[in-house]
Amino acid sequence: MIDVRTRLLRRGDYIFGSFVRPSTVDGYIVAVNPGDRSDVLGRFAFSLVSVDDAVGAAREAMAPWSAMSVAERAQCIARFGEKLEEAADTYAMLITREGGKPLWEARAEVDATVRAVRLLLADGPPLLDPRVLQQDTAWSERRPVGVVAVITPFTYPMLVPAIHILVALLAGNPVVFKPSKFAPGVGQALAELLDRCRLPRGTFNLVQGSGASVGARLAAHPGIDALLFTGSHRTAAKVRRSLEGRPELPVFFNCGGKGAALVLDDANLDLAAYELCVSAFATGGQRPDAAARVFVAKPRFDQFCDRMAERIGNLKVGYGFDDGVFLGPMISDTHRRQFRGKLDALSDAGHAAIVPGGFADMEGRRGFYVRPAMHWVLRDEALAGEPVGPVIQVYSVDGEDHAVSLHERLPSRLATAVFTEDERRFRSLGERMTTGALHMNRGTSGAALRLASVGRGQSSNGLPGATELIRFLAIPRAVVIDRREYDRSRYVPGAGPLPSLNDDGETIMS
Ligand code: NAD
Repeated sequence: MIDVRTRLLRRGDYIFGSFVRPSTVDGYIVAVNPGDRSDVLGRFAFSLVSVDDAVGAAREAMAPWSAMSVAERAQCIARFGEKLEEAADTYAMLITREGGKPLWEARAEVDATVRAVRLLLADGPPLLDPRVLQQDTAWSERRPVGVVAVITPFTYPMLVPAIHILVALLAGNPVVFKPSKFAPGVGQALAELLDRCRLPRGTFNLVQGSGASVGARLAAHPGIDALLFTGSHRTAAKVRRSLEGRPELPVFFNCGGKGAALVLDDANLDLAAYELCVSAFATGGQRPDAAARVFVAKPRFDQFCDRMAERIGNLKVGYGFDDGVFLGPMISDTHRRQFRGKLDALSDAGHAAIVPGGFADMEGRRGFYVRPAMHWVLRDEALAGEPVGPVIQVYSVDGEDHAVSLHERLPSRLATAVFTEDERRFRSLGERMTTGALHMNRGTSGAALRLASVGRGQSSNGLPGATELIRFLAIPRAVVIDRREYDRSRYVPGAGPLPSLNDDGETIMS
């Protein structure tokens, strides 16, 4: 059994191939185990000067890294996958300790990261191959965009950064990465892994810090050439505003918003209750694809709610390292208070608590524990905003049209599950709904990982996130070499005399 209480060795930022302590300190982030506040992982100093240093280091690495072949870059990335897999359980424990998610979920995240590396290595390099436009004379090649800044959230502290960083690297771009202030330990672990991948110095850089200081400085830094941001719409809006002076900067926003579900009158209610319970409450309801709103056909509403209430009552809330725990703590006290505040607001507005949620006590542990909730939304106003934490809002609907109209009014729809025994109904509903991922008889959980959800939210399956990203981070450039004898048909009237291409130097005149 590994002692999970050992303090992390705080190594500082990772710049130009070394861990360095900031020379000037602008603040600290304190990493605390959200399931046991007496367990402090470490205090991480941060500095705005480090951002400048990291961007400078990445610029220096642009030439050597982009000069390496795709196969050589792929080898470095393969090393990352191997090292991660070798110590998968240690990384999973770090994720649980720092972020609170139960160990089974943390292990699933590490496994998904290893799989993502394999997929990237299989599918990525061919996308970077030049495309012949005309034999020997014209082709389209992909060029790295330049220094890529990567800013990521706490929810998937390893998977989301790893995908973004590795795709940027494979495409030939150096990276400056800022992890969430709730995941400095996992951020550091990623830097340690990349340190062992034999990258040229400066190719990968890490800066720790809060979003408002280090994040804002990095996003608006004049030395970056592209920004990959994953997080909330609220932060994305701030970042957009800060970039008004750089309209040319390519920015990839991968935002959240939560998922939804429709339970039709012919649905298997046991299946729907199971799938939606898992989807709504995994990672404490903090996942971007959590099924937070469920539209249930009126004739089945009471039965569905009974089954959900029973399932919710059986969910084990607890410390992520304890056996059988499904729901860990929320990431911070602020998040927990927001959760309770939103539940109070729902109750005050008359939306009945079928399963009342709130703070939960855990014997022997001081953590940010909560009880999951289910509210019956009686009117449409609760549709606004993003529900926080483990809550399901259920609506009794008068039929498919009503369900679709409510669904389409949700502020964002990352994934939607439809429960029905009739595939034709599912398909025809799918035509009428705008959503990132559409699932039949399966919860929304896991959809975010399969989504590109780039820009306006394109999505597909397999490795879309990475393949979309590669196209974004390696810009096509057409190259033409004119080897033909001079072509008189291209003579442009008024452009002056045609030049001579004849061996004897004779000028060709039309
Ligand atoms: P957040 O928006 O609070 O923070 C995201 C990142 O932005 C963090 O690293 C933060 O430090 C940084 N940041 C904050 N202010 C900044 C600023 N002014 N300038 C630059 N950077 C700044 O998100 P969070 O609370 O960490 O994560 C939860 C959110 O992420 C949810 O909305 C969830 O839906 C979303 N999410 C989406 C996906 C997806 O694949 N679409 C995946 C995971 C999480």
